[in-house]
Amino acid sequence: MQAGRPVPAPFSPPVSSVLTLDFERLRNKISTYLRPEDVGRVEAAYHFSANAHFGQFRVSGEPYITHPVAVTELVADWKLDPQALMAALLHDVMEDTSVTKAELAERFGKVTAELVDGLSKLDKIEFRSHEEAQAENFRKMLLAMASDLRVILIKLADRLHNMRTLDHMRPAKRRRIADETLEIYAPIANRLGLNNLYREVQELSFMHKHPLRYQVLSKAIKAARGNRRELVGKVLTALEARLPQWGISAEIQGREKHLFGIYRKMLEKRLSFSQVLDIYGFRVIVPDVPSCYLTIGSLHALYKPVPGKFKDYIAIPKANGYQSLHTTLIGPYGTPVEVQVRTRAMHHVAESGVASHWLYKDDESSLSELHQRTHSWLQSLIDLQSASAEATEFLEHVKIDLFPSEVYVFTPQGHIMPLQRGATPVDFAYAVHTDIGNRCVASRVNGDLVPLRTELRNGDQVEIITASQAGPNPAWLSYVRTGKARAQIRHFLKNAQQDESVALGERLLNQALRAHGLNLGQISTFAWDRFLRDRGVRQRREIFADLGLGKRLPVIVARRLAEAQDLESGRPNVIKPKPASAVLIRGSEGAAVQLARCCHPIPGDEIIATIRKGQGLEVHVHDCAAVARLRSDRGRWIDVGWEPADGRLFEAAIRVLTIDKRGVLARVAAAISDAEANILNVTMDTDHAPYTALQFNVEVADRKHLARLIRNVRVQTAVTRVFRQKSEVKR
Ligand code: MN
Repeated sequence: MQAGRPVPAPFSPPVSSVLTLDFERLRNKISTYLRPEDVGRVEAAYHFSANAHFGQFRVSGEPYITHPVAVTELVADWKLDPQALMAALLHDVMEDTSVTKAELAERFGKVTAELVDGLSKLDKIEFRSHEEAQAENFRKMLLAMASDLRVILIKLADRLHNMRTLDHMRPAKRRRIADETLEIYAPIANRLGLNNLYREVQELSFMHKHPLRYQVLSKAIKAARGNRRELVGKVLTALEARLPQWGISAEIQGREKHLFGIYRKMLEKRLSFSQVLDIYGFRVIVPDVPSCYLTIGSLHALYKPVPGKFKDYIAIPKANGYQSLHTTLIGPYGTPVEVQVRTRAMHHVAESGVASHWLYKDDESSLSELHQRTHSWLQSLIDLQSASAEATEFLEHVKIDLFPSEVYVFTPQGHIMPLQRGATPVDFAYAVHTDIGNRCVASRVNGDLVPLRTELRNGDQVEIITASQAGPNPAWLSYVRTGKARAQIRHFLKNAQQDESVALGERLLNQALRAHGLNLGQISTFAWDRFLRDRGVRQRREIFADLGLGKRLPVIVARRLAEAQDLESGRPNVIKPKPASAVLIRGSEGAAVQLARCCHPIPGDEIIATIRKGQGLEVHVHDCAAVARLRSDRGRWIDVGWEPADGRLFEAAIRVLTIDKRGVLARVAAAISDAEANILNVTMDTDHAPYTALQFNVEVADRKHLARLIRNVRVQTAVTRVFRQKSEVKR
């Protein structure tokens, strides 16, 4: 991507001749395996791209179109289909010119347009961090976003060509791109078994990242090659003489180690250059699998094997589908010699990995083996759980979903966050930090405000807006996906409830202490400690919470504390009871205080509360029918009062008797909202014709507000009676 960006023209070169030459070479290449009409379609894509990029130039000064053509040539080397070739030619037009996806779809078909669109999306995401875990996430994100294998192949070809033409960049930029290639693209190429590409991009990255080391190493290798020649010749002659004796027709290749591999080996194993170069390599290619084992047997008869070095990657292939037999022999002069033995088809996979599907698909003999290999490669990559995917199916439809259970998104800092598929901004917020989750109120995805329940997609850039006073909403539990978010939301809600219970418990106890002429502040530490020790409780807080939740009775705790206080002073407390006062409630304490659903108390009502075991206070209006029923249980009733109003609204129920007339409901509803009250819910009862009873649940500030509302409703025509409902309607 970066390496290929167009720059302003340094001069105006004669374009046409260069262009034609470029396409001629490509045409020759694709004519070997495409039908003439398909060659024509590719040529049309070429003209379109050349036109779109006309007037753009690479940093080298060449016309920009040379880049897509070169990328397409690489893709043609894999013998990819016409759609992929067209997409390779067009891969930068959406990014760099005004061409749209719809236009591409119309001209070159939907598949090609999808491929180009996929490539443009990959171009937009940027890799910024250099931690290893982040690199892994970034690779996964790339693979997840490229839902078609061909997109990845074209992307890798694009990167290879950019690496090949990196010379024209400034050194700092070269290093950065080389790093990115080593961290992101080389591992992907390796994973896909694209060995040749893998090696070349590594080699080029090494060259641009450490130019000096690269030079020194390549000189040393040239010098060492002379010494090698004799030994290599000896071994080759011996092998070539021996194998036919066993009836094996084999192709034997001397194997040159690549520079980056040598360099890495020196670094990792702390070897000197001569130690690394001492290892010689050969590759033996044979017609079939039995010949592989036969060859290894005859080699072991020829030279002694190094114990523990024999590896059977035929029986157990590598994750990227690679298969071969490996052994190390003790060659002439005691020099270790590495040998790889494989079939032709295995060789194809070893060189071109997943691309060998397109590359060798006419080669009948190796086709089924290839399918098997590529399939097992895919299996290992996506860890398919169902066996439903037929061995060849994925190759027919190259659509892939590599990480079906994950999604990768960016933080505003460019960090990549892996999340469960289906995750929302709330999950993201909790993944960043618990505090961010708890304070989250809104979110932006790719710059736009979105609802918190929005499902995130690969590559999204997510930003969370927080407010210091905010808290988690229980409704989030219905859509969060990650265990962390779920657990943290539950935890927070539970704690919040706990805090409320503690605060309420304190107030209840304070009130109960008045009967003993005390208040909480006067209870000594001695008395508290004694009280807690006797009950095996560690903290006062636990006692308060129990009181708030109704697990202990305030009158009893107050009495015991007063007794403990007396013990300390050594004389009985002369009780001077303070006048009892009500515990003040706001009505919004949450679980610790609940306004009874039967009578809907609102500020201004005289209220009374009952402590329900384990559930805190339930507040009723003093003349509620339920209170009358339960009144006998005196110990559990406490006087409560309202805290001053703070703008909060309370639910109340009113019943409106009307004469059934058209539009009466609308008029009553309008009268209610004229009184600035909210309607929560309305039900209608037409059993008593000609009267209709309307039951409204409304939200009001207090009694005065409700009185105003009732007056407003009463004056409506067709309304005969209005009254507040203080007990549940029995049907
Ligand atoms: Mn490009």
